[in-house]
Amino acid sequence: MANNADVTKLAQILACATSEIMAVRHASSIRRLRAELKVRIRVGAWATYHLPPQKKATKKDPAKLHVIQFGTRCVESFFDKDRLQETVQDYPEIRIYGVLPKYGPLTSAVALSFLVLHEFSHFLTYLDGHHREGHGPIFQKKLQTLHEADDGVLVAAFLRSEASRLEINLDGFFVPIPKAAKFAKGDRVKWTGKNESFFGVVLRVNKKSITVHPDDANWRAYVPPSQLQRIE
Ligand SMILES: [Zn+2]
Repeated sequence: MANNADVTKLAQILACATSEIMAVRHASSIRRLRAELKVRIRVGAWATYHLPPQKKATKKDPAKLHVIQFGTRCVESFFDKDRLQETVQDYPEIRIYGVLPKYGPLTSAVALSFLVLHEFSHFLTYLDGHHREGHGPIFQKKLQTLHEADDGVLVAAFLRSEASRLEINLDGFFVPIPKAAKFAKGDRVKWTGKNESFFGVVLRVNKKSITVHPDDANWRAYVPPSQLQRIE
């Protein structure tokens, strides 16, 4: 999937899924708050995000308008097996909610539908009045609700069928769920060094190690998942 034209078309399909499935399914909340959503793609960019209304209106983005953007380079990374495997480690859907049985093997189609739901969750969380939620518990709860309501299943099916019309295969490979995926960014953890125990927070889940930030320290540790213990 090195073909730029294909990646651009695919980003457009993601944008369609966002405005024609997600925004339609959640039209009442959007209307009730008189919000407007613009979904766009950006060719050659990584940045994929939800942007809440900005104070300063510009011609492109009038105030009170929410934007969801899909960067084509981000979309392209879902076709690199190694990168996809790293990406999905941050997905709470897989680790905490255990939604995968609903979706089947973790292919590009499935992971891309998770991306759509992720950005849309930011949008809905903001509409609910949580303007500084980030990836906090309210955001997570919203995301889980979307998965439970089968929004992701619908989006994945839409992506597959639209892509197949362009002869793009979104199920060409699947990534295994890595062992390290039982940890996620933000988890509180404990591990034992040479002589003492440490407590800290997971900063990043890598392929073979977990990057941890010890409490009250300004260094980082790279700990094998087998030596790490999650604490509540
Ligand atoms: Zn996010």
